[in-house]
Amino acid sequence: PSPDPAAGAAVKAADRAHVFHSWSAQGLIDPLAIAGADGSYFWDYDGNRYLDFSCQLVNTNIGHQHPKVVAAIQEQAAKMCTIAPGFAVDARSEAARLVAERTPGDLDKIFFTNGGAEAVENAVRMARLHTGRSKVLSAYRSYHGATAAAINLTGDPRRWPSDTASAGVVHFWAPFLYRSPFHAENEAQECERALRHLEDTIAYEGPAGIAAIILETIPGTAGIMVPPPGYLAGVREICDRYGIVFILDEVMAGFGRTGHWFAADHFGVTPDLLTFAKGVNSGYVPLGGVAISAEIAATFDQRPYPGGLTYSGHPLACASAVATINAMAEEGIVENAAAIGENVIGPALKEIAERHPSVGEVRGLGVFWALDLVKNKETREPLVPYNASGAANQPMADFAAACKRGGLWPFVNMNRTHVVPPCTVTESEAKEGLAILDEALGAADAHTV
Ligand code: PLP
Repeated sequence: PSPDPAAGAAVKAADRAHVFHSWSAQGLIDPLAIAGADGSYFWDYDGNRYLDFSCQLVNTNIGHQHPKVVAAIQEQAAKMCTIAPGFAVDARSEAARLVAERTPGDLDKIFFTNGGAEAVENAVRMARLHTGRSKVLSAYRSYHGATAAAINLTGDPRRWPSDTASAGVVHFWAPFLYRSPFHAENEAQECERALRHLEDTIAYEGPAGIAAIILETIPGTAGIMVPPPGYLAGVREICDRYGIVFILDEVMAGFGRTGHWFAADHFGVTPDLLTFAKGVNSGYVPLGGVAISAEIAATFDQRPYPGGLTYSGHPLACASAVATINAMAEEGIVENAAAIGENVIGPALKEIAERHPSVGEVRGLGVFWALDLVKNKETREPLVPYNASGAANQPMADFAAACKRGGLWPFVNMNRTHVVPPCTVTESEAKEGLAILDEALGAADAHTV
């Protein structure tokens, strides 16, 4: 597409006049005006094209503008744009079937929401009603969404302004060997100590008052920490022992991101409730949901479920999910994510880490990788302090700017960059992005000591 800077300036001026942006000081931001997107790329009005190694907010698992999904949305729009949740409609029924067939174990009933946070809200409500208990345990180093319960469950600084004492949320430490909260020296130790810490937390909080434990199967925004073997199975066993509902949040890790349909598939663990969103339809139309076990679903067989949304199971969103899941199956998109991770991204990132003094650790799988950037590999001091802003965050800002100058759109959070391209990324696109990343890390190396 030919550049049109005047059109870009007009789009930006209108944005600045009336759009109120997420997570931002409105007077300090300068949003890039976007003209279009296709596959693994998007572009601005000035002739700059970016390879999208962030998948926006880690949601465009099938890339931008997949033709089958665009067509399905157009067809559904021509047929029926909307209908209330109380009716049975083909797009919703089929989306529920396709999701239920892929979720682990007996998670066979699907409650649809508009996104991830609402999925978490409803999972917590189901757990509380099912158990008659109120407390919920969640991990530090987590993100579960920005609505009332979801932000209270979140274990990052975005929770602080929304903390309320009455929410009944208790945080604990999940395993993370590179920055071990348990001073462990290997994965087996980290796993064992993390499970003991969770048991202790439960004992001191009172097991009879705990409704649920919620974990991201593999924490995403917080740093892509793949749990050590045995950890999730251990949490499952603890939940069973105390009658606690086990919720796995797969909003980011689900639908192909890790090289399986769900990250839980890597660990052979079935939760009681599983939340999803993002990759279910790559965010083409807002959609999320909760997959519900037979036992919890039975709680609401004769007793009404006290929750609902005007747009629960919205036809346009569900039609796009049906087309997305079918395209992923037909085109081997989940298998591609696994293969690219194992054969291209993983090996390249490990090589990059050896060459750059700023790369402390590389971790991940599929198209779900994190580079933990440090000032010094020996001390592991993060390249920027926790929750840094302004001048303190300059090293990460320099790194992100270098990526963008090279034509790569990075995902950056605190002292990390995440390599999270679409599950459809080709080998040559992945290599192109990795080469830009390699070069841009020079800007981070400049801040090492
Ligand atoms: N849970 C996890 C694991 C997430 O990564 C996110 C969003 O990044 C959410 C929940 C919230 O989803 P949404 O922003 O769609 O409300």
